[in-house]
Amino acid sequence: MSNSLIQSRRRFLMNVGASAITLPVLTDAFGNSIQSEPRQGRKLGIALVGLGSYSKNQLAPALQQTQNCRLAGVVTGTPSKAEEWMQKYNIPKANVYDYKTFDRIADNKDIDVVYVVLPNSMHEEFVVRAAQAGKHVICEKPMAITPKACQNMIEACKKANKQLAIGYRLHYEPFTKEVMRLGQEKVFGPIKFIESSDGFRIGDPTQWRMKKDMAGGGPLMDVGIYAVQGSRYVTGEEPISVTAQFSPKTEPQKFKDVEETLFWQFEFPSGAVSNSTTSYTAGIERLYAACQNGWFELSPAFGYGPLKGRTSKGPIEQPVVNHQAMHMDGVCKDLLDGKKLPDHITGEEGLRDVRLLQAIYRAAETGRKIDLKA
Ligand code: NDP
Repeated sequence: MSNSLIQSRRRFLMNVGASAITLPVLTDAFGNSIQSEPRQGRKLGIALVGLGSYSKNQLAPALQQTQNCRLAGVVTGTPSKAEEWMQKYNIPKANVYDYKTFDRIADNKDIDVVYVVLPNSMHEEFVVRAAQAGKHVICEKPMAITPKACQNMIEACKKANKQLAIGYRLHYEPFTKEVMRLGQEKVFGPIKFIESSDGFRIGDPTQWRMKKDMAGGGPLMDVGIYAVQGSRYVTGEEPISVTAQFSPKTEPQKFKDVEETLFWQFEFPSGAVSNSTTSYTAGIERLYAACQNGWFELSPAFGYGPLKGRTSKGPIEQPVVNHQAMHMDGVCKDLLDGKKLPDHITGEEGLRDVRLLQAIYRAAETGRKIDLKA
């Protein structure tokens, strides 16, 4: 019998053993069973894959504040980081992997959730391998660089009977939840138009974000996705058409592989329209909704916070929270409770966004209005 067959059989037997003893079995929308993780007052163990700037500066510190999960392991291609993280976060050597040994994580009971924080083009491979290792997965945005890759990731998690969340931290953030409510409940009447934009001036031109094969594109893939999300979550609707335009490149050498600035417009079924900008050449961060009887906005709207909001009736008051801690705790609470994750943070939502990102590029490249209803 091959090693992988032995391993998968061992995993199957372990799963059967565990669920037979303790786990309630629920069913998801596809009729697949969802296992809850045994609570026993414990926190789920998360392994971060890729110890770059987001893992180091945001996720690891957030995991020191979480109630439902903890930093239990790391996967890194850089040995010096492994040493540093083991010391700093008291991580045992047995919970440290590199990209080759990663699959052995299947046998590690300390790790319940694998969090993929790699360059965009690597998300697919590591989400699929994590699912095959029998772990729940959180994957950073954008979910992947093609819809096909997203579908493979969804399929792998479904097959492994594990849940897949995307790093949509704002869906747990109070200011964002409030503008979702204001828009979706039409508190100021129907939304007429939206400005939703996210951009910043990028530094090092040699980083993977500037390489199309690793990033999938430029600022649209990186932060424009937040502007797409913003227009979708304040309307609660899916766009039915898109037009888009690339700006001329003011730094053509720097932006030889990816776009510098990109504009796009969505139409929504209710008649609402949105206008968005994303850029790697200058900063913008705003989500504004003009409604029949007033307006509301967040600015800043998409960064790590504190976010700030106003409406035509006054300021938006909400608690300031750690986005990453709220997100990981929210996801892990559902996993511990054996609940299906809410649709708007799953792989299906990641796929919806990646399809829209591709449609925006297609609209900008062709100069045509793209019908999104098909
Ligand atoms: P970084 O470039 O800072 O880190 C990426 C890490 O991936 C590297 O440090 C390295 O870690 C690992 N890696 C493995 N192979 C490669 C490779 N060929 N080239 C470069 N890095 C490699 O990126 P970020 O941490 O900023 O971003 C990672 C992911 O997180 C992206 O998908 C990004 O979109 C997302 N992100 C999400 C944010 C959010 O707010 N939700 C904010 C920032 C990023 P090691 O040395 O350990 O192997």
